Amino acid sequence: MAYSSVNPFNGKLLKSFDELTDKELEEKLVAAEKCYKTWKHTSYAERAKIVANAAKLLGERVDEFAHTMTLEMGKRIDEARGEVKFSSDILAYYAKNAERFLAPQKLNPTIGDAHMESSPIGVIFGVEPWNFPYYQLARVAGPHLMAGNVLVIKHAGCVPQCAIAFEKLFIDAGAPVGLYTNLLISHAQSDKVVDDDRIKGVALTGSVDAGRSIAARAGQNLKPSSMELGGSDAFIVLEDADLDHTIPWAVWGRMYNTGQTCCAAKRFIVVDKIADKFLERFSAALGALEAGDPLDEKTTMGPLSTESALVQLLKQVDDAVAHGARVILGGKRVVRPGSFMHPTILIDVAKDNPAFRDEFFGPVAMFFRVKDEDEAIELANDSDFGLGGSVFTRDIERGRRVASRVNTGMMFINNISWSDAELPFGGVKDSGYGRELGDMGIQEFVNKKLVRYAKVEAPV
Ligand code: NAP
Repeated sequence: MAYSSVNPFNGKLLKSFDELTDKELEEKLVAAEKCYKTWKHTSYAERAKIVANAAKLLGERVDEFAHTMTLEMGKRIDEARGEVKFSSDILAYYAKNAERFLAPQKLNPTIGDAHMESSPIGVIFGVEPWNFPYYQLARVAGPHLMAGNVLVIKHAGCVPQCAIAFEKLFIDAGAPVGLYTNLLISHAQSDKVVDDDRIKGVALTGSVDAGRSIAARAGQNLKPSSMELGGSDAFIVLEDADLDHTIPWAVWGRMYNTGQTCCAAKRFIVVDKIADKFLERFSAALGALEAGDPLDEKTTMGPLSTESALVQLLKQVDDAVAHGARVILGGKRVVRPGSFMHPTILIDVAKDNPAFRDEFFGPVAMFFRVKDEDEAIELANDSDFGLGGSVFTRDIERGRRVASRVNTGMMFINNISWSDAELPFGGVKDSGYGRELGDMGIQEFVNKKLVRYAKVEAPV
C-alpha cells in the first residue's frame, strides 16, 4: 500500500489508505480550480481570517497533532510538540505580514511613474517529505494561501495521517472547499498533476532524485518551481572554538530528528589543533544517547522514520567502509524491536569514496581533520550540495568571513542550521533553488507585474 502509517518504534501497521482513483483526483482538481476563482479576489484580511484561525487551532491542539506525528514517523515527542508550535507560528506570521510583503512597490523610471504589483497565479502543487510532516506543509500553506493561490499537496507515503490531519485543520478553520487539498496519489498521477493546465506552479521538498524528476517535468510545461532538496552541511570547528558551547550543538545538529533533517550537520570539519579533543567529546556525547520510546519524554534517541530508511542507511555505511572509511562509533542497528540505529561516526572518508559526496539521512556523522581555516573552507565547498552550514569560533568577525566564503544558501555562526519564520530558507547547487519562509518565500508563486504611466508623445 503506497500510503501506510507504520509505527517505527515497534513496526506495527497503524492504518493504510487507498490512493485516489483518477476520477477522484479530477474532482479534487476541479474543486481547487473553482475555489481559486473566488479566493484570488478575496482581501488579505479575509484570507488572514482563515490562515490565522488555522494557526490558532494548531496552537491549541499541539498535543494531538504531535502525538500523531510521533506514532507515524517516530519523532521524539518534545521535538514533535516544538514542530507543531513552530508550524502554527509560520501560519500566523504570514497571516500577519503577507499584505505588507506583497504591497505594490514604487519604481523610479526616468520618465513617468511605475510600480510593481503582485497577484496570485493559480493552483500550486506541493510535494512534501515526511521528516517534518507539518512544518513542511506550513511553509507552503502560509505564504501561498495568503498570496491568493490555492494548494493541492502530495505528502510522503509514510505520513498519511499527518497529511489528512493538516487538511482537516484548514476545514476546521473555515477554509472553502478546494482551498487546501491533500492528494493521496501515485508518482504517475503526480506527473499528470504537474502536466495539468490548471496547475500553475510546483513546490517540492525532497530528495535530489525527486527534484530532478519533478523540476524537469515542470520545466517542460514552462511552470515555475521551487526545489528544496538534500544537503550535507559542513560543521566547521576552528581552533579557537569554545568546545563547551560547540559539542552540544554538534550533537544537536547531527541528532535532532534522529539525524533526518535536510540542513543537519553532516560533515564535521575540525582544525587539527582541536580535532582530538573535539572527537573524544563528540563520540562520548553521541555514545551516551539511548534508544527508547519516542512518546516517552525521557528518551534521548528515537527510531528512524521507517524500516526501509534504516536498511538504506546501514547499507550506505557498509558501502563507505567497503571503500576505505572506518567506523569509530556505532555503525549498526540497535538490537531491539523498531527501526533504531546507533549514533555513528565515520572517519577516513577519502575523496574517491562515494560516501564523500553522499547525504547520510540519519545519525551518521562524517569526521574530517584539516590543517587550518582555508583547508576547512575548501573541504566544505567540495560538495555537490549547498544548503546550509556552520562555523564555530570565538572570533565572530572571523566567523562572518568564513561564512561568506562557504558556497551555500545559509550559514550560521556558533549555532547550527535552523529556520525561523522570518528568515529565508533554501540552498544552491544540488540543494535546489528558490526560497521558503520570510519575505522571499511568498514571492515564489506570484505574478510581479509592472504598471507604468508615462506622458510621452505618440510615435509618428
Ligand atoms: P523523497 O523520496 O524525494 O520524497 C519526498 C516527497 O517526494 C514524497 O512526498 C515522495 O512521495 C515524493 N516523490 C518522490 N519521488 C517522486 C516522483 N518521482 N514523483 C512524485 N513524487 C515523488 O525524499 P525523502 O527521502 O522521503 O526525504 C528526504 C529528502 O528530503 C532528503 O534528501 C532531505 O535532505 C530532503 N529535504 C529537504 C528539505 C529542504 O528544505 N531543503 C527539507 C526536508 C527534507 P512518496 O513518499 O510517495 O515516494
